[in-house]
Amino acid sequence: MTHSSTEQPADVVARLRATFDTGRTKPVEWRTEQLRRLRAMLTERGADLAAALNADLGKSRTEAYRTEIDFTVREIDHTLGHLDAWLRPEPAPAPAHLGADATAWTQYDPLGVVLVIAPWNYPAQLLLAPMVGALASGNAVLAKPSELAPATSAALAELIPAYLDTEAVAVVEGGVPQTTALLDERFDHIFYTGNGTVGRLVLRAAAEHLTPVTLELGGKSPAFVDRGADLDVVADRLARGKFLNAGQTCVAPDYVLADPGTAAALEGALVRAVATLFGTDPAASTEYGRIVNERHFDRLSGLLGSGRVVVGGGSDRTDRYIAPTVLADVAPDAPVMREEIFGPILPIVTVAGLDEAIGFINDRDKPLALYVFTESEETRARIAAETSSGGLGYGLPLAHLTVFDLPFGGVGESGMGNYHGRYSIETFSHRKAVLSKPLS
Ligand code: NAD
Repeated sequence: MTHSSTEQPADVVARLRATFDTGRTKPVEWRTEQLRRLRAMLTERGADLAAALNADLGKSRTEAYRTEIDFTVREIDHTLGHLDAWLRPEPAPAPAHLGADATAWTQYDPLGVVLVIAPWNYPAQLLLAPMVGALASGNAVLAKPSELAPATSAALAELIPAYLDTEAVAVVEGGVPQTTALLDERFDHIFYTGNGTVGRLVLRAAAEHLTPVTLELGGKSPAFVDRGADLDVVADRLARGKFLNAGQTCVAPDYVLADPGTAAALEGALVRAVATLFGTDPAASTEYGRIVNERHFDRLSGLLGSGRVVVGGGSDRTDRYIAPTVLADVAPDAPVMREEIFGPILPIVTVAGLDEAIGFINDRDKPLALYVFTESEETRARIAAETSSGGLGYGLPLAHLTVFDLPFGGVGESGMGNYHGRYSIETFSHRKAVLSKPLS
């Protein structure tokens, strides 16, 4: 640990602030050194993290590397490759009334001490990827992993101090009491990933100190399948996106909207896609994950009756296993349609066509992601113009968040602010306006 077990949250924050105030974290050399050490942690100790992810979520080694460990390594490499360019002061034209010798520019200043609070579903990636941006921006960082992924939390609490500068980076483990105590402290930015109920608590606590906040939240991300789309391709991509991490992905397609004919044909394609991915007995597949805990298992079990089972439907509480499940004939107000599913259940809701699909989406909270499967340019254009979502994916779920040159974040109920790549520098820095006029 970076701190003795008796060190209180206030003491940890005070220690990090004292370090930040010395200026130690500001030079670009310190920042790149931390990123390199974080990279070394992931490459040298990736197997430990993969084992922890398997213990917490039944994640396969392949999935652990692809979606958490290598994902973060790629984010680090992208940042190391561009940081100098991103940090360069950006000139702004000075207006004529200030005279020809006046110049203006912006420069990025680190904010200070940043708190990163992570959830359990991608417990390594969602703690470390924000840290990449916070460190690259020259901040001290206090990292709070999720207590609901205890093995990963413990691994991160051991590894981060072993690799990073312990004077400027600390890990505090714990649940509600520890996080509540942390939120009493003053931070210069809070980066929270998780659900909207806690997001509101974070925002309220931050208001006391006028601390800026990024909220990476969730919600129901729709997938509209247009008439005439190649349904074998659609089903394969939907199933991969939905059933990754047993559906416990913030940007997973939550439900499908399609006209009745398309929906009927999609059913068979989804049955084939699930069999191709996980075989006839997904419980025996090493590539298929488990539900994080009994509480979520019970919640999801209660949603299995929301429609006609097309494939799956089975579950085993002792193993926290819920089969990859597709439900058809789902009513718009069925239980499975009233909350973010966050599990391996894919409901299909029928709509008359594009107009009704757009109305359906716009009648609900703005989603974190919206997916559209269509060959029609007009449909693409109408969806882009007439709906609002954190991200928009044509033809491929989840993939937009692997493009580090795109901002990742929500809008409305799905969150505020964004990150990845240079957008993380925007989030974790203050862009200072500078005007210069020579004295003579
Ligand atoms: P969680 O239960 O692990 O909670 C997230 C964090 O909040 C944890 O670190 C936890 O300790 C802390 N926390 C919980 N209760 C608290 C309280 N009362 N006060 C202070 N802190 C508290 O994770 P979760 O919220 O179940 O995560 C799932 C949600 O997160 C889903 O809605 C999902 O869509 C969303 N999510 C969003 C993203 C994204 O990038 N936008 C990524 C993953 C998950």
